[in-house]
Amino acid sequence: METIRMVDLYGQYLKIKDEIDNAIFSVIERSSFVKGNEVTDFEKQLAQYLRIPYVISCANGTDALQIALMAIDLQPGDEVITSTFTFIATAEVIALLKLKPVLVDVDPETFLIDISQIKSKITNKTKAIIPVHLFGQCCEMNSIMEIAQQYNLFVIEDTAQALGADYYSNNNAIKAGTIGHIGCTSFFPSKNLGCFGDGGALFSHNEQLSQKIRSIANHGMTQRYYHDHIGVNSRLDSMQAAILSVKLKYLDQYHQQRQQAASYYDSELSNIPWLKIPKRVTWSSHIFHQYSILLDNKTIRDALKQYLEQHKIPTMVYYPVPIHRQKAYASYQFNDNEFPVANKLCETILSLPMHTELTNQQLHYICNTIKQFKP
Ligand SMILES: *Cc1c(COP(=O)(O)O)cnc(C)c1O
Repeated sequence: METIRMVDLYGQYLKIKDEIDNAIFSVIERSSFVKGNEVTDFEKQLAQYLRIPYVISCANGTDALQIALMAIDLQPGDEVITSTFTFIATAEVIALLKLKPVLVDVDPETFLIDISQIKSKITNKTKAIIPVHLFGQCCEMNSIMEIAQQYNLFVIEDTAQALGADYYSNNNAIKAGTIGHIGCTSFFPSKNLGCFGDGGALFSHNEQLSQKIRSIANHGMTQRYYHDHIGVNSRLDSMQAAILSVKLKYLDQYHQQRQQAASYYDSELSNIPWLKIPKRVTWSSHIFHQYSILLDNKTIRDALKQYLEQHKIPTMVYYPVPIHRQKAYASYQFNDNEFPVANKLCETILSLPMHTELTNQQLHYICNTIKQFKP
């Protein structure tokens, strides 16, 4: 049996090697490495896939979030609401721009921001909400958009883990990241649509906002060497764009392969009394960026992790520390008692191997090994 990995980027590459190699070599032949046609082509293809008019690529997902916040004219001290159970980037860009991260606990079953707690965190300084579509399924966006409308807030979707997921609203399937005012994503290699380095993008329905975003991502430039905003240098390079254009064609297939692995896990693991399989919500498809199970407590979780390691099955804890407990954020003096769910999740969650190249033999081995664990 092939070595089991958390992600298998090389195996995925081998299946489309000729196409990828050709794409890379043609970029070298043209030698337009930055702002080449490949970048514009990929932006158009992604816009078409997401059914949204404007896609602006940038250097990585963290930059996408930062540029989004820069584009909506906030003042230092303005408050931005997000989840405490997410990758640090979401809160980091808020803090970096001298805005105030206001954290909300998550739902114990979906791991997504607890919408019922958002309103109580809104003050007259609140300007935006960043819902995070964690692990591959969408937050319940209709409720979030309703709150945003009521309080006149911007909604910036963090779609780094859910690019291509469908949100169901009034019998329509809408792509994650195209519901709020701005969507942000990452093409980090291990994401569902990953390039061979760093990459990111923003999407919007709003032409004016999109122009501003494009300008900010390019030194605030509108006309060459005329700078209307203070911007950043954040570009997707042509090589990554060429690779992404190839891989975008396979994204739905990649989702299906992940969903098949998830269904296998579901059916094999659902009857284990000491383990909880991830919940699938009704309002969104699940593209399984991660397949995360819950254990009863930290002792069992850590023991299972170690036991699986001994049997050559890698696992990961996403995330071991919530944002409100991170050292760098201590000055915000978050009240730990406000986040009981996230605190418990960090001790009880465990993500199993999840990627497009998992074989039935590997899945069978993983599930059987888990079943033989004695908690
Ligand atoms: C990966 C990720 C990011 C950041 O993307 P980078 O491309 O690594 O900068 C932001 N938010 C979430 C939820 C992520 O998973």
